Amino acid sequence: MNPAAKERLSKVKAIYFDLDDTLCGYWDASKKGLREAFELNPIPGVSTDDAIAAWGGAFQGFSRDLKKIPDLYDAYLTSGEPTRTHQMRLTLEGLGQPSDEFAARLSQAYMERRDANLKLFPDAISVLDTLSQRFKIGLITNGPADIQNQEIDTTGIRNYLHAIFIEGEQRVGKPEKIVFDRAAAAMECDPEGLLMVGNSLHHDILPAIDFGWATVWTHRATDVPPSSKTGKPEPIPTEGPLPDLIVNHLSEILPYLEL
Ligand SMILES: [Mg+2]
Repeated sequence: MNPAAKERLSKVKAIYFDLDDTLCGYWDASKKGLREAFELNPIPGVSTDDAIAAWGGAFQGFSRDLKKIPDLYDAYLTSGEPTRTHQMRLTLEGLGQPSDEFAARLSQAYMERRDANLKLFPDAISVLDTLSQRFKIGLITNGPADIQNQEIDTTGIRNYLHAIFIEGEQRVGKPEKIVFDRAAAAMECDPEGLLMVGNSLHHDILPAIDFGWATVWTHRATDVPPSSKTGKPEPIPTEGPLPDLIVNHLSEILPYLEL
């Protein structure tokens, strides 16, 4: 680690985590949830693998366009249901079998099976236990208010969190500066006292670097969405700003914070 990164980490007083694929395996749960939803509700003449691939194709265009459709983004902030069902509708349309009723049933099954498969990474609780003895811990997570609160409760981490910032509740998400400013104010910390730990270079790491926070990028081989064409995690860039630390597992952070 370079001396500047070491110096930044030595000043940390409060730590914000991202949730999905930082503390818990969201894409893993998503993939298992999709598989189980399509196995429980088969699309006639379509294999489960082809159904998941069609969902992935629908997801790519849809996630890109979400914020460009104001009514849809507004609905999404409150509840994951309208966009989740819309995406199942697009999946069925893409397979030549449009049905609003079937889309709603698949959407519900997917949400239930994804939640049933959502697990914290094995070291998450021990890391939160250790860190919370010395630092204030918070969460900054993008996504609908209902689903993000459901995930916080499913994973059982609420008691560790001094402050929680959910895109759906704030009506604005990462990487916007206002989110990081509000999070800093909640910890009564200057930027140099804050550490952001996250899996997304674009949403978690680069904005936090920009705003003067210390940063740890969790970079796991399993961090691959069902819509991925490469089957690989986001590549580590060879130029531009980089985080203070890149880890495969959360527990690797502890020695750098002298724990
Ligand atoms: Mg994430």
